[in-house]
Amino acid sequence: MRLKRKIHTGLNWLGNRREARGGVLLYHRVAEPDLDPFNLCVSPANFERHLAALAENGRVLSLHEFMEKKNRGQLERGSVSLTFDDGYLDVLTHALPLLEKYEIPATLFVTTGNLGEAFWWDHLAALVYGSSFLPDTLLLEPTQSSPLLIGNLSTKGLYDLLYPILRSASTERRETIFSTLSSQLDGADHAQPQRCASAEELREAAQHPLLTIGAHTVTHSRLCSLDYRSQVREVSESIETLSSIIGKRIDTLSYPFGLENRDFNGETLAAAREAGVRYGFAADLNAVTHETDDLVIPRLWVHNKGENAVKVPLQLWTGTKLASNIGLSS
Ligand SMILES: [Zn+2]
Repeated sequence: MRLKRKIHTGLNWLGNRREARGGVLLYHRVAEPDLDPFNLCVSPANFERHLAALAENGRVLSLHEFMEKKNRGQLERGSVSLTFDDGYLDVLTHALPLLEKYEIPATLFVTTGNLGEAFWWDHLAALVYGSSFLPDTLLLEPTQSSPLLIGNLSTKGLYDLLYPILRSASTERRETIFSTLSSQLDGADHAQPQRCASAEELREAAQHPLLTIGAHTVTHSRLCSLDYRSQVREVSESIETLSSIIGKRIDTLSYPFGLENRDFNGETLAAAREAGVRYGFAADLNAVTHETDDLVIPRLWVHNKGENAVKVPLQLWTGTKLASNIGLSS
């Protein structure tokens, strides 16, 4: 009987440890641009609706508080923390005033290779969507023997064709492709991509009591496609750059693109650990439990919808079901 009771108590404890406790929200931008091919933007109006719902819930924590409570086994059900990936400037210009209004803290995961500049995918969107014409064929590199046939492809079709090619290209090849494409499409003359915050803007942001800064690598590459030493370098150099800009220690990382076993793997976790990362954040959708691995914290990508975008997961996290168990997609 004693053994049975012990097992029962043990299973209860384990069940409690594995229960959904809360979640980390993943945002990218707060803006309403004409062009948003990856749905990275939440409008300021919807973002304010989210913050109002979160303020009502009353369990919004800074990321470190959230993680420390999780590790002490004291994360209250329905606890939430906000994160923004990439380091876009509009997080400072559009999101921060609203975070101040509701006194809600957030963490910004910043890519250091293009501070003050636009990401390549935004340059590509501007180049393709902004172009006043689409040619029948396209060369990616000046030495290419047979050009890509564009035919009747729509603008979106062309963007979707080029994006994976550029994503898997090295930085050098990507630059070659860009300069070749720029001579065949005139989008860059008409569309201006949103840039990221500069080093100076980040330095100022890091002084704000509601904001903390985390790393998001140097080049925003799919880490598991790199060898181990390059993965360590991507993480440690981004941490060093950010630490020297803001004058504070950095121990959090968000994995670019963010899906476990597609964009990062076990080797990446070892590289992150070696680079001094304490808490690693993924883009896999799930709730956080007291058992969740500190280096693979799932997040909920919040889309440009009204308050239900955060209210529905809050209701689930306040209950006992994992968000993923009922196939929640946003
Ligand atoms: Zn990112």
